[in-house]
Amino acid sequence: MIKENDIYNVVGVDYTSDGIGVAKVEGFPLFVNNLIIGEEADIKVTKVMRNFGTAKVVRFTKVSKDRITPLIPETIHLGGCQFTQLDYEKEVEHKLSKVKRALRVIGGIDYDIKTIHKATNPYFYRNKTVLPLGVKKDGTVISGMYRYNSHDIVIMEKTHLDDLRASEVMVKIRELLTRHQISIYDEKSHKGDLRRIMLRASYYTPDLMVVLITRTKNIDNLSAFCNDLIAECPQISTIVQNINPHKTNVILGDNEEVLYGSGIITDKIDDLTFKISSKSFFQINTPQAEKLYSRAIELAYIKKDDVILDAYSGIGTITLLAAKKAKHAIGVEIVKEAVEDANVNRDYNNIKNATFYQDDAGDFLLKHKELHKVNIVFVDPPRKGLSPVFINKIMEVLPPKIVYVSCDPATLARDLKILTGKYAIKHIEALDMFPRTSHVENIVLLSLKTA
Ligand code: SAH
Repeated sequence: MIKENDIYNVVGVDYTSDGIGVAKVEGFPLFVNNLIIGEEADIKVTKVMRNFGTAKVVRFTKVSKDRITPLIPETIHLGGCQFTQLDYEKEVEHKLSKVKRALRVIGGIDYDIKTIHKATNPYFYRNKTVLPLGVKKDGTVISGMYRYNSHDIVIMEKTHLDDLRASEVMVKIRELLTRHQISIYDEKSHKGDLRRIMLRASYYTPDLMVVLITRTKNIDNLSAFCNDLIAECPQISTIVQNINPHKTNVILGDNEEVLYGSGIITDKIDDLTFKISSKSFFQINTPQAEKLYSRAIELAYIKKDDVILDAYSGIGTITLLAAKKAKHAIGVEIVKEAVEDANVNRDYNNIKNATFYQDDAGDFLLKHKELHKVNIVFVDPPRKGLSPVFINKIMEVLPPKIVYVSCDPATLARDLKILTGKYAIKHIEALDMFPRTSHVENIVLLSLKTA
């Protein structure tokens, strides 16, 4: 019987879905942060639950040849960032096998995925950053990432994931918050003013957005802070104040005010320009997103008379790229601001054959009268995958071709299990949108089975 504080010598055999090492003692899985597959270590059990336990490394007895020195040393203290210690090739190999396993175990699908598109730059790719803030006893404001299994902040000047321009501005913001004594929000007591800072940095343009997420609208010293920030960081193109008065872990509130600049940033995908506001979804790795979209569009093999539905369309990236090749493209998206951005983007890029609707994707299918005209459906849902309403309606209308873009292999496998009742899987490939983390993106081409 495994107990807390027991010491064992174990071998790393796998990673959890969060990228934590897994070892087994008498068949019982223990999650061990910072243990790479193939490594051997003496570990101490820290907790025992019904189906698994957690443990920490006391001493490595065999270090893997796949272990690398983390680019940012502090990442060794983080959880779920296992892969900063792992050779990038091995990370990608693991991701591919993770996708295949999810398809097999959850979806009952045996598919030999041949391609995973690696990132050319596996660091500093995140174009959107939201880091936790804290205050030291002497009043100094700090930011960084959470220590493994805790809400303690590991102070970082730059993280291994975030755009370097954003990290540079973040350091300046910390200094100015300290200088102007802006009060930092405390989750537990629901007191304090500044909840979080979000930064959005464009990949192709110099645009850089700062979003100050505050508990109330009027904050002491906020305008003096903003004036200094603009003066000392000329690279900032816009500042937005977002007000979130609720006791919640949802990051953004409903109300916003633009404090400086236009309130949006501009970026590019392929030859299209996209205007992005603070609340809109935009893939966080721009060059990899370009690769993803171009592969999704190629696989769809769009022809001039095709009518396209792009469900979960965000600011209209796939819809507009598809519209350029098709007769008409319809985008459906639940977030109002994203749909507003999508309409602006359509007009800005002078695209005439795209229409956007604000709705739940499933509800939209129930209402839309001309679904039978749609011959290619793109879906790119959030991690929870497609809703039952959406899938049921698709299985009833049976559009000839579906391109499923997924950021979660488990829900993808669950949905494919249903869709393959009527559809054949023609192709699957994976793409590393989130290097150095455990997440992986997939594109699946489905075609209606002929009787
Ligand atoms: N295809 C877009 C967005 C993908 S992210 C892109 O690549 O940029 C998933 C999107 O689905 C988000 O914009 C999110 O707001 C939206 N969404 C979440 N739940 C939804 C629902 N029930 N119905 C429609 N859209 C939804």
